Amino acid sequence: MSPVIFCCVICGYVIYDYQDPDSASWVNQFRILYSSREIIAVTGVGIYDDPDGDWVAPLDFSARWDDELPATDEIGVLRQPPVDGRYGFPLHEACWSLLEKAYSPEPVPRETLFRVYSSLPFPSLGRGLSWGDSHGGLVFIDNNRYPWEDRYIDRALDSVLPAARYDPYHVPEILQLRYEEPQVPAVSGPLQHTADCFSKLPREVIILISLYLPTIDALNVRRASGSFLLIFYSRQFWASRFETNADRSWLFESWEWDKTCDRRWLYHRTNKAHRTEGINNRERVWKLIQRTQRTLSLQWDESYTSNIAHMTNVKWREATGDLRPKTRVGPLHGFGEGCRLFHEQHAIIPPNRLSHIAFSVIQLGETIYIAGIRLILSQGQAIQLGYRAENELIVSTTRLTGFNLAVGSRGIQGVQCVFDNQPLLQWAGCPEDAPRTRRLTLSGPIMAMKVGFDGCKVVSLAVAESIPPPECTSLRDSAFWYPRAPPAGLHLNDVHFTAKDTATTRYQPLCWTMFGGRGGVYLRSLVGLSVTCFGTVRNIEFHYDSEEVPVECRKVGRCRTEGINVIHFPIDGPDGEVIDSVTGR
Ligand SMILES: [Zn+2]
Repeated sequence: MSPVIFCCVICGYVIYDYQDPDSASWVNQFRILYSSREIIAVTGVGIYDDPDGDWVAPLDFSARWDDELPATDEIGVLRQPPVDGRYGFPLHEACWSLLEKAYSPEPVPRETLFRVYSSLPFPSLGRGLSWGDSHGGLVFIDNNRYPWEDRYIDRALDSVLPAARYDPYHVPEILQLRYEEPQVPAVSGPLQHTADCFSKLPREVIILISLYLPTIDALNVRRASGSFLLIFYSRQFWASRFETNADRSWLFESWEWDKTCDRRWLYHRTNKAHRTEGINNRERVWKLIQRTQRTLSLQWDESYTSNIAHMTNVKWREATGDLRPKTRVGPLHGFGEGCRLFHEQHAIIPPNRLSHIAFSVIQLGETIYIAGIRLILSQGQAIQLGYRAENELIVSTTRLTGFNLAVGSRGIQGVQCVFDNQPLLQWAGCPEDAPRTRRLTLSGPIMAMKVGFDGCKVVSLAVAESIPPPECTSLRDSAFWYPRAPPAGLHLNDVHFTAKDTATTRYQPLCWTMFGGRGGVYLRSLVGLSVTCFGTVRNIEFHYDSEEVPVECRKVGRCRTEGINVIHFPIDGPDGEVIDSVTGR
């Protein structure tokens, strides 16, 4: 039986000691954040020294595997099915301790954390949850695939990121720092000592300004303005670099150290040039934890929900991410990419009373998503749908007739309000690199909205209007297009497009290229086609005998071509060839 190795959901490194399987090290000692009969809890410490896929740990948080006669139970984790109703997410004991330290003195919000982890897919070539990024350097992103495809490949190997092998919680080199003799770093002053507007400010105000600046900016200001030179000698400034959310907050041991400790020296001593791998991994994991904290900070509001059962004779138009089944035997089975729907909220919008609409966003990995929508009515009442962030984008709405959407496989990434068929220029969220659709643009005012959520963001959005619209048949308006819909002057030949039904009802983005150029200007230069097949046609490349053809006309589809069957069609007839039809099978 092949070994079952999973990665820690916090640091992304494996929970198994390849180098010394029989020893007890930080790498193979773990806890599990798990659910059992609607209760979310964290286990005591278990050890994974036999990669047989049995995750066994004491359910008592204070117990350990090496206690005398520990009571232990098995728990299904990640893509395994639950065991006796217990299912969860494994993490190193060291990483959980670091998470507790980041939240101290508050407790870790276990329910919210479980909800967010439940929303993350488990890529087919991965060994842990995917945040949609490189997870601090341990995940390879295959850019030969589209952003909505299962493209995250685990590479938690020591050769890729040697620092990841080091215990991020117990770092002996950090404890040694307080006993080192501080050295005085070299001082580099401003380029020119000239009086400027800042010279009129008192010293206290200069220091106060610097406390709000990232260190790199503060030190650059010091080089540009002689008034800021004093921050280099300010204990208050350097102490602030070690506080929560500052760039040395990961050195939490220093919070307990003597206040007379030279923080300027300590900052210099722990810059990248002077660090060990253990310190590098502390910073890497701490930053991953801070990212998780930002995700967990959104507030879920379920105070409002309308009853839409009585709404008959309305037609909903809906756009969703790549929704995967909510219930299944193994909770992450079939969830290599995409999203899951956990809750739905509805709102009936009183006619002519919508005054503003506010959007909350969340960053997950490298991608921004819409997390919640607040409808503000003319008398000041508000209807909150989903999560709410401190900062919202608020748009004035006089006659809202729909939305243009940018939709990734994991949820709604951008929303553009449409008023009387005219889109507002501004997008809420970030539409970049996501398929777009005009499916939710109506001919009249929106009568009701239906919004679906996973554990942290919007995964589906539907609108209804009071007059049932004619059946939406235009491929241009109802499909998801990447990177954007074709221009109005291009005939799409909708009737003969074989994927029309699935492209307009499911999450199945369409890509296109105008390989002949406007008016077929490049067709005379076309000398061949290459088709890459991997189970099905994955991409088509167009070859020209001219350098002037732009890159976007040369290829449609993405995939690796090494080792894959590529078929070439040269166009080499004495008078060229004429393509009069194309048949796909
Ligand atoms: Zn870990």
